[in-house]
Amino acid sequence: MNDDPPASFKRPERVYRTMPLDSFNRNIDYLRISLIDNCNLRCVYCMPLNGLQFLPKAELLTAAEIEDVARAAVSVGFRKFRLTGGEPTLRADLVEIVERLRKVDGVDDLGLTTNGLLLARLSTPLRVAGLKRINVHLDSLDPATVERQMRWGNFTQVWEGILAAEAAGFAPIKLNAVVTAGYNEAEVVDLARLTLERDWHVRFIELMPLGGGECATLSIKRYVSNIATRRRIETVLGPLTELPVTNASDEARNYRLAGARGVVGFISPVSEPYCGTCNRMRLTADGKFHLCLLNDDEMDVRKALRERSGAERISAVASILLRAVQHKPTGHHLLEGRSTRDRSMYQIGG
Ligand code: SAM
Repeated sequence: MNDDPPASFKRPERVYRTMPLDSFNRNIDYLRISLIDNCNLRCVYCMPLNGLQFLPKAELLTAAEIEDVARAAVSVGFRKFRLTGGEPTLRADLVEIVERLRKVDGVDDLGLTTNGLLLARLSTPLRVAGLKRINVHLDSLDPATVERQMRWGNFTQVWEGILAAEAAGFAPIKLNAVVTAGYNEAEVVDLARLTLERDWHVRFIELMPLGGGECATLSIKRYVSNIATRRRIETVLGPLTELPVTNASDEARNYRLAGARGVVGFISPVSEPYCGTCNRMRLTADGKFHLCLLNDDEMDVRKALRERSGAERISAVASILLRAVQHKPTGHHLLEGRSTRDRSMYQIGG
């Protein structure tokens, strides 16, 4: 008689490799890596014009350190990675970082979130380096609104960047617009209209107050619910039909206008929170695992990276990451106007 347990009872060799579950049974397998806290824009809801202090270069994780964090992450089951900031294209070694991460066995998906200003030059090198996806942040198609809301933004430059990304083969192009009362809330219709002709995903994001200060105050005052944004779009462009959910952890709820090639998405952390399906962990540019975008809890990883080397360094980072996953909180207090105190979006990586 064969006493072996049935295959379904057998423990996989490395339990964590396929399933880093947190204490709420969420499968956390997506790491967003912030490369830098500086940005070449000063969006009204994100960065004040004065009083900013950026991390000195020595405090930023190096390309080699980021690669080792990714190696540690795949060893415990992470599969999806995204580079963000601040503005990640301000890192002179961005292409090298992409090359390094693409070579890590287990990095199945690698994306970039950018404001697009430097994409005209960088799209092809990034594609050649192995980047898979690009999300571009663009709040309006009106150059005057871009200048007012994204301060220092230049619509033509971003638009050329988006077209360069498309020409380099990135698909689908995803555009992210943060809807802000008194700035772009009426322009959501023009943005959504883009999907009629183009196979792009245009996603509308609700404002969140992060980090206290003037940007957090503005984010509360100028908040527009995606319920209102959807209504505004449908009033002009007709009904949006909801698309089937293909990825349970997608933060966007996706829709299509009749006859459209592209997709209209709504990311609604305030009016329709999605903490229950969150699969994300964040790494800040100065080497902390930031456990939840809307909370301050962090675990330092830079010390472990800088005090160790080789396999020992990777296993030390992996064990910090597993503890970070276990301690990942759920829920937020956005409706009471509270979230992080210590860090703003540009310091965490949106
Ligand atoms: N620089 C890149 C960019 O512009 O996309 C990456 C970093 S940026 C912090 C990531 C995203 O966060 C952008 O889409 C930005 O609009 C969004 N964001 C910044 N502050 C926000 C806030 N208070 N509420 C909602 N989204 C915000």
